[in-house]
Amino acid sequence: CGIIGFAGNTEAVPILLDGLERLEYRGYDSAGVAVASPEGRLQVKKCKGRLGVLREALAAQKPLTGQVGIGHTRWATHGEPNDVNAHPHVSQSGKLAVVHNGIIENYLEIKQSLLHKGVVFASDTDTEVIVQLLEYYYKKSSNLMDAVYEVLNRIKGAYAMGILCSDFPEQLIAVRKDAPLLIGYGADGNYIASDVTALLAHTRTVTYMEDDEVAVVTADHVQILGRDGCFLEKEKHQIQWDV
Ligand code: GLU
Repeated sequence: CGIIGFAGNTEAVPILLDGLERLEYRGYDSAGVAVASPEGRLQVKKCKGRLGVLREALAAQKPLTGQVGIGHTRWATHGEPNDVNAHPHVSQSGKLAVVHNGIIENYLEIKQSLLHKGVVFASDTDTEVIVQLLEYYYKKSSNLMDAVYEVLNRIKGAYAMGILCSDFPEQLIAVRKDAPLLIGYGADGNYIASDVTALLAHTRTVTYMEDDEVAVVTADHVQILGRDGCFLEKEKHQIQWDV
């Protein structure tokens, strides 16, 4: 339902929680965050319920430290609202995490084929096939971007997603098709969001992603690629209005 992502020079969790709060108006049943530690370890916290439940759970444990992360508010379509089905979803090895808005229409067929290959699924969501399939292709090719494109060739449906990989803890990858996603350029880092309202506290300079575009976002760099892997020159827009 709502996506926020940050790659910057300051702690990610407070920024992610603030962004999720601004997306609350869209409605949701669960919320979660994943942060890449500088040494390249993915840390995830996700809970059924209001954002306050996630905040309390985070406050009750060792802080999730890191300057790159993704957050999500979920409106369940596949799999009941519970902690396990909340996003981010993590691959079997723990190397990859994804947040996703939308529906993967052919998830059952993909899930079946991955189950046959011995992949163990944790959740009942359509979303988890994205991250497990990504891991499958990444293991095969050892090339993360190639693996992302393989996933895009295989999945059908509507999606906006943010991806974290512990091998590249300084970056996040964003993809969309038939669901909104934009990039924000801030002073202390760069952002992805499903809705501009999540970004206005940090920046008014944005680029709207279009279908089949893939963005690689770090603290000081944003690259947007087309479906063929070519770099795109995208226009930046200034948001004028207030919320
Ligand atoms: N289909 C996904 C799920 O049920 C994503 C739902 C959403 O857009 O929040 O987890």
